[in-house]
This record gives sequence, C-alpha cells and structure tokens, in this order.
Amino acid sequence: MNAPTQSTSIETVTLIKDDQTKDSGNNVISISEIFGPTIQGEGALIGTQTIFVRTAGCDYRCSWCDTGYAVLPEYENDWKSMDAEAIFNEIEKLSNKQPMWITLSGGNPAMQDLEPLIKLGQSKGYKFSMETQGSISKSWFALLDQLTFSPKPPSSDMRFKHRGLQRCLEACETHGKNENQAHTDISLKFVVSDQNDLIWAKEIADQYPQLPSYVQPCNGDADITVDNRAYSEQLETEPEPENQHYDQKQKMLWLIDAVQSLNWNDVRILPQLHVWLNVE
Ligand code: SF4
Repeated sequence: MNAPTQSTSIETVTLIKDDQTKDSGNNVISISEIFGPTIQGEGALIGTQTIFVRTAGCDYRCSWCDTGYAVLPEYENDWKSMDAEAIFNEIEKLSNKQPMWITLSGGNPAMQDLEPLIKLGQSKGYKFSMETQGSISKSWFALLDQLTFSPKPPSSDMRFKHRGLQRCLEACETHGKNENQAHTDISLKFVVSDQNDLIWAKEIADQYPQLPSYVQPCNGDADITVDNRAYSEQLETEPEPENQHYDQKQKMLWLIDAVQSLNWNDVRILPQLHVWLNVE
C-alpha cells in the first residue's frame, strides 16, 4: 500500500469482499512491520516525518502490489500479533517519546481494530494518518487526523465499488459528528499505470469534488506505456532502461503530459518520493 520495502509478485484474484468486517474486540492487531522515523513519500503528507505501522492482511490482491509480504498468507509466520500497548511502546522507542505523525498502512489497515492504538497515541500527542483502498468502513476512521482513500484502478485487476467508498466517507462524517471529533482531513490518491487508469481516476475524482486528489505513477511491477525515447530530450540524456531514476522520471513526465491533456487541473501530480530516494 505504501512505502514499499520488498517486491513480491502476486497472482491476480478477484475481489474477496467489500463488506464491513467486525472488530474482534480483543485488541489484537496483526502487524507486518513497524519502522521509522522516515518521511511519508506519497499523498497529502508527502515529506512529513513519520513512523510507519504496517498491518498485515488485505482483502485485495492487486496485480502490481509491492507489499505482498504484508498481504499474502505465506508470509503469516513473519507477522506478529500485538496489542495497542505493545505497538505504542515500539512507537515510543522509535520516536524517543517525541510526538510525531504515525502512518497506518498495510495491507489494508481497515481490517484491524485500530481504535485503541489511535486513542492511546493521541492521548500522548501523536497524530495518525492512514491509507486504505476504501473497501471496508470502520467507525474509528473518524478518529484519524488524516485519511487517504486509494481506490484501485483497472490495471490492478480489482473491481472498484463506489458503495464501499461511500460507506467509508459516511463513517467519517457520522461518527465524527456523534463523537464530536475534530474533522478528519480526507483525500483521494490514485496510482495509475496507463491512460485508461488515468481516465478512470478522473471520473472518480470528479464525483468527489470536495476531496483533494493526488495522482502518482505506478512503480510496482506494472509497465507504464511510455515510449522509451519520448522524454529523453527533456531528461537531457540517452534512455537508460536499467536506470531506476530514469524510469521514474519518464513516468512522471508522461503523467504530467497525460493529466494536462485531460484538462484535469485540480489534481496534484506526485512521485513516490521514498522510491525516488530509495529509502524505506
Ligand atoms: S490494496 Fe494495497 S496492499 Fe492490498 S493488494 Fe492492493 S496494493 Fe497490495
């Protein structure tokens, strides 16, 4: 979902479920990894210093997922079951008890019961952001300081369901009002692999004009259809197919052109900064 640290190819399967999952109530959270401080490399908080809490398990199987180690059952032995207190102890160790942003990522973090962790961290001055695809809604979304919905485009081989995203937005609004929570900053983030994805992303974004939108090129296993020589003049160098930075720059230049050709003027175009810098 975010900040890829390993690359794993995943077989494409169909959508498993889009319904709400019930929280276990036993305060056990499945964790793939906790690391940082580092910088958020994507979306609304790009450049923000943060600690990542990557939960394990996902209801999707995107064709170009770059965090298979947090998704696929064969990695289960690497996952830890931790309660909110144990996770927060780890966060305090990594941050020297200095409050900062915590990014909840996955997998799909919406599959876990993260309410106790968020409440515990916020009571100590930490802020919480989360990214999820919008397939599962939870009342505790309204506790988050920042929430990014990242609907998966056609190239992921997943099927986007408007109703799922709508339910997530309603959860934020309804529970935020009920619990008198401060407003959660919500945005949309689209990872695109080709023109078809981009047109789809704009159609979704146009339905939610109240939400800021971000678009970024896919740096997973997907091939963005970019003519290898198309941007070599702008990059003032010969194509270097094996050069990761060259590849990322080409994708960004393609994306800027493609967004402008759609007259999509109110979307922000971002790289995956951590991929560019090759940092966790
Ligand atoms: S939703 Fe995110 S974590 Fe889940 S399979 Fe897709 S890219 Fe991977």
